[in-house]
Amino acid sequence: MRYAHLEFTELVDPVGREPWASGDFTTPSPAAAMGHNRGFCDMADGLRQEAAFGWHLLEARAAAGGGEVDEKEFIRQLLVELIAHEVGHTLGLRHNFKGSTIHALDELHDRRVTDKEGISSSVMDYNPVNIAPEGHEQGEYYQTTLGPYDYWAIEYAYRPVEADSPASEQAQLAKIASQVAEKDLAYGTDEDALYWTRGIDPSAARWDLRDDPIAHYRDQIALSKDLWAKIEDKFEQKGERYQTLRRVFGWGFRPYFSGAGNVSRYIGGIYHYRDHVGDGRLPLQPVPPARQREALDFLVEHVFGPDAFRWSPELLNKLAPERWVDFTWSVFDVRRIDYPIHDRVLSIQRQPLERFYDPTLLSRLQDLELRYEGEDTFAMVDLFTGLRQAIWAELETGGSIDSFRRNLQRAQLQKLIGLVLRPAGGTPEDARTLARADLQTIAAQIETRLAGSGLDAYSRAHLEETKARIEAALEAGLERSL
Ligand SMILES: [Zn+2]
Repeated sequence: MRYAHLEFTELVDPVGREPWASGDFTTPSPAAAMGHNRGFCDMADGLRQEAAFGWHLLEARAAAGGGEVDEKEFIRQLLVELIAHEVGHTLGLRHNFKGSTIHALDELHDRRVTDKEGISSSVMDYNPVNIAPEGHEQGEYYQTTLGPYDYWAIEYAYRPVEADSPASEQAQLAKIASQVAEKDLAYGTDEDALYWTRGIDPSAARWDLRDDPIAHYRDQIALSKDLWAKIEDKFEQKGERYQTLRRVFGWGFRPYFSGAGNVSRYIGGIYHYRDHVGDGRLPLQPVPPARQREALDFLVEHVFGPDAFRWSPELLNKLAPERWVDFTWSVFDVRRIDYPIHDRVLSIQRQPLERFYDPTLLSRLQDLELRYEGEDTFAMVDLFTGLRQAIWAELETGGSIDSFRRNLQRAQLQKLIGLVLRPAGGTPEDARTLARADLQTIAAQIETRLAGSGLDAYSRAHLEETKARIEAALEAGLERSL
């Protein structure tokens, strides 16, 4: 019943288990990375994090006057989903990370739909907690029944087949398998959802939801903002400890980490089907350019943008850390007694940046230009230009550059300079020249901006340093390429 707030977290290892304690969610631990590559299941831990985010949000909403929620029912549904998932493994089923893409928002909260087939086509996906946007009717929180994919997979594996030879059995199995292109039977597993740039199909994703995952993450980020807006209503009660406030505040970042990682996969993405010849689809289908631009717009607004992250100074000053001296004296391991807010934000922003300037993605973007059918394309140059205009927007719009944005600009500058001076093996030459052109444009814009007024001391120093770094890099880069 207390799955979302483990006593272990609160009493034994309160410091180490603070949400996103390491601030480094861009790199999975070696064990986790290997596990994911090999089909290891860590659903229980992810579901615990989903439950912690969802449950604390529901509690905060209730305290702000939103009506009571039934904790027993919330946890019952979660346990049904987790047990069904793990039993699925024992029956031989692998993960299906495309399962969660079959329903529209209204269907996700319509019991007539979900009682029959769940919020997802499969219990074998990592389905997130299903919390309705504010003002929308709430349906089931979790997957509590088998979905269409599960019935199909079990039918293939276990349905008794009357056959007098392997050949006649094969014909009957082929008939079941031929439904592969049906929308509700979409399938993609661990090797299709690899971290970083090797997993090419953005619809094979962990913890996403809905037939429009980008819209889903827009709603999720609104939920985080809702949690932060109401957090004090519930978690700042006379006599209680501020540490709870800090921990719950941290859960608000989960949709940002999940969204920044999963939405960025649409850029340079290719839908990948396992169809055989004659099943109906080509195995590779580039994500439509308009959808890639939508993904970039999402990141610009919710991850990179000047208004993406805002909290009141008062709330930040309430985020006191754990001082409980536990069995392992972990209070001595608290690296920051105040809340490391800049580290948190930058670790979210770094996730897409690392991805976008990776040689595998850049090579794929270049190849993709030959694969679009029709006029519209999304080319490598569109990504470079889009990122530059978004990340350095203040050079055009004027005004000072705030501390989150200065950090982001430095992180991107490092990537561009790296491409010019020390491109990783396999980086397309065109990416190097585009990075060089970006640096020249940024330097020219900085020069104009420095000649004008309206810059605070931080911004002026930042731009002067940036300009000097660009000049040094361009000079060294030319020598390198001679
Ligand atoms: Zn699993």
